[in-house]
Amino acid sequence: MDKAKIIDGKMVSELIKTKVTAQVSKIKAAEQRIPVLTIIQIGNHKASSTYIKNKKIACEKVGINCNVLNYLDTISEAELIKIIDELNNNAEIDAILVQLPLSEHINSEKIINTIATKKDVDGFTPKILGNLMLGHYNLLPGTPKGIMALFKHYQIQLFGQHAVIIGRSNIVGKPLANLLINASATVTVCHSQTKNLTTLTKQADILISAVGKAKFVTASMIKENAIVIDVGINWDEHNNLCGDVDFENVLPKVKMITPVPGGVGPMTIASLLENILYLYHINQT
Ligand code: NAD
Repeated sequence: MDKAKIIDGKMVSELIKTKVTAQVSKIKAAEQRIPVLTIIQIGNHKASSTYIKNKKIACEKVGINCNVLNYLDTISEAELIKIIDELNNNAEIDAILVQLPLSEHINSEKIINTIATKKDVDGFTPKILGNLMLGHYNLLPGTPKGIMALFKHYQIQLFGQHAVIIGRSNIVGKPLANLLINASATVTVCHSQTKNLTTLTKQADILISAVGKAKFVTASMIKENAIVIDVGINWDEHNNLCGDVDFENVLPKVKMITPVPGGVGPMTIASLLENILYLYHINQT
């Protein structure tokens, strides 16, 4: 494998975690209250349990307290709203994360909108997303924030570059498109109804895939020397974790690429830790 081409999200995330650990140590040394994240899990969706476990481990490693509240998937929307309201008013809790997806009978948007902006660690509430669009970046959703941090670390030029994003979700595609526009990239957003996808992806200086399908992005979809960011989390036919990109065949063609695992995933977690610390500080004042 050509290591020079690999965007090492694991390594960059460790640099961020070291900084977060140092800041939490300072808080501890000053005998102040330690930052607290509360995660709400509804039901026992297997992938959600894994993501929550990883977030909890990451918090504990940097010295942040993380508690997980688990409710049966029969919980009503009204009950859940009441729980979030209580957490909003609990001065001992800095950050609230509702693990998605929720059960069918619960309106996710309504639940997310119940989280107080000052505790919205995922950055999914309308005010935070509106600020992002306007270029005010106090707190950013974890995955787009992590991807932007990778661009910065590797000094990847965005100005004037054509960035093509596949996927228009509210948590990845749409916020990332705005961040890239604000960074003066030219942005094309593709989705399931896009016609002639390959014609568009082949124009990308930077291609970002957030689709959720293994080997969706093939070598023939990529321009020579493009930079490829793989957001997807999938399992291949051997049940191994993989991204959206046919990594092996794409690698020889690209300038740089994020692997899965070890690319965007660890950056999302590192961004979450930074966001907890940010909310801790604004909630202290
Ligand atoms: P989503 O599942 O909400 O939506 C997928 C997007 O892909 C949609 O916008 C859809 O229009 C598009 N799409 C589907 N089929 C397509 C096709 N044939 N052509 C073009 N576009 C198509 O998206 P999401 O929540 O952003 O998640 C996408 C993937 O990224 C998933 O695998 C998810 O697990 C992963 N993810 C990873 C991280 C991370 O930290 N690495 C964070 C968030 C999501």
